[in-house]
Amino acid sequence: MNDPEYTHQARWDEPLITELINTGKRCYIPKRFQYDKDIAIPDNLLRKTELRLPEVSELELVRHVVRLSQMNYGVDLGPVPLGSCTMKYNPKVNETLVRYPEFSMQHPLQPEETVQGTLKAMYLLGEALKSLTGFTGITLQPAAGAHGEFTGVLLIRAYHMLNGETKRDEMLIPDSAHGTNPASSVMAGFKAIEIPSDEKGRIDLEALESALSERTAGMMITNPNTLGIFESNIMDINKKIHDAGGLVYLDGANFNGIMGVAKPADMGFDVMHINLHKTFATPHGGGGPGSGVVLVNDKLKQFLPTPIISYDKEKDKYYFDYNISHSIGHVHGYHGNIAVILRALAYIARMGGEGLREACLTAVTNANYLMHKVMHEDGLELPQDPSIPRKHEFVVSASPLLRETGVSALDIAKRLLDYKLHAPTIYFPLIVHEALMIEPTETEPLSILNEMADAIKNILKEAKENPELLHEAPHTVAGYRLDEATLAKHPILSAKMLEKIKPQWEL
Ligand SMILES: *Cc1c(COP(=O)(O)O)cnc(C)c1O
Repeated sequence: MNDPEYTHQARWDEPLITELINTGKRCYIPKRFQYDKDIAIPDNLLRKTELRLPEVSELELVRHVVRLSQMNYGVDLGPVPLGSCTMKYNPKVNETLVRYPEFSMQHPLQPEETVQGTLKAMYLLGEALKSLTGFTGITLQPAAGAHGEFTGVLLIRAYHMLNGETKRDEMLIPDSAHGTNPASSVMAGFKAIEIPSDEKGRIDLEALESALSERTAGMMITNPNTLGIFESNIMDINKKIHDAGGLVYLDGANFNGIMGVAKPADMGFDVMHINLHKTFATPHGGGGPGSGVVLVNDKLKQFLPTPIISYDKEKDKYYFDYNISHSIGHVHGYHGNIAVILRALAYIARMGGEGLREACLTAVTNANYLMHKVMHEDGLELPQDPSIPRKHEFVVSASPLLRETGVSALDIAKRLLDYKLHAPTIYFPLIVHEALMIEPTETEPLSILNEMADAIKNILKEAKENPELLHEAPHTVAGYRLDEATLAKHPILSAKMLEKIKPQWEL
């Protein structure tokens, strides 16, 4: 980092802009924005001391901000193969579109007749998603995948309540599921019952059968599951649950693995959510904003949150439809995250049905290509049957490497940062030890897939030659390995707190 050649590039010790005070410099301020001393502001409202604002020239400001941006890593810089997160490239035309003032300057309480364009966009997205999934009803309100799950299981609860089946209080969930599934079920008042996976990574049918009873409210299934494996018995599984009086929820957060190829309603699911921020190309990460729209079949339409967006053909008018007989009520202030909804519609419109199908097939091809490039490497193993093709993602285990060299999945992930690549998801799903969960997505070209495979191969070699190097990685970003548990529990979010720990940062 002390190499003089790099002094103008991003550095971890870039000062905070608020530290640059008393330099006497300022950016250019156009006259019409300058303080007009003739405006009569009462004396008691005028500040007595100077406001402590950063003092920098325009050039210094631009360089500061550009250096900060260079410290960051995102999908516009390189691949982000985080399994289950679907970090695909987000087309820029979507960003232009959502910034049109016609959309961005609207107020959610405007009268219907003044927001017909937005209502039409919402309606069209709903129709497109219905046709992709085979479902008949939709709500665009939920703001994230977990929020969609919560909404979906509330619909299942409302269904059983209306039928007088108040004893149905158990939600079955495979052990490979995302942690949000049991959390959503418990929040909606259910007991979460774990169903083990079989050795092929699929739902264990015998365990499922013995768990079904008159207390079964339903099951939440991720398909393709978090191992990237399609539940080939899905029709049979869904029939068993229906025969026991339950409903089936599809966690479709990662719709990328079947989009345009298979319809969940045809598989017998009753309700699902889709993460628009994953499959339908919205920049995400760091907590939002997102959209976890929920789709349902006819059994659950009468419980959807109000209002839904409907179209009156005779009057050629789109409107907020509150006519839902047993609605569970609102699940979001106003109508959902509109910018995400608009991006999803723009993406679908630009791709078309064939394009979406091709995106899915390419995502699946990319995942399988990369899996075959790395799965035979010494140190890694594929815990589930390698002959089963994966869908959008795959999970390899670094258990053999840990046994042989003491180098863990975490060490591999951290070392990848030194190769200027984002780490994959690690230690998830919980049923795979030392899991590396890799989802390259369809937007990464062959050259990048090869680069990722080469980096992983190199790191496996390094693990044998110099394990210490990997335990201490990363060496080129952040200065040292961060303590993630402390980071999550005691995040430092203000400059004042940062000052206190800063000495530790000196490189
Ligand atoms: C991402 C994801 C979720 C949760 O979605 P959020 O938008 O983060 O709440 C749920 N299930 C699966 C399988 C996921 O990949």
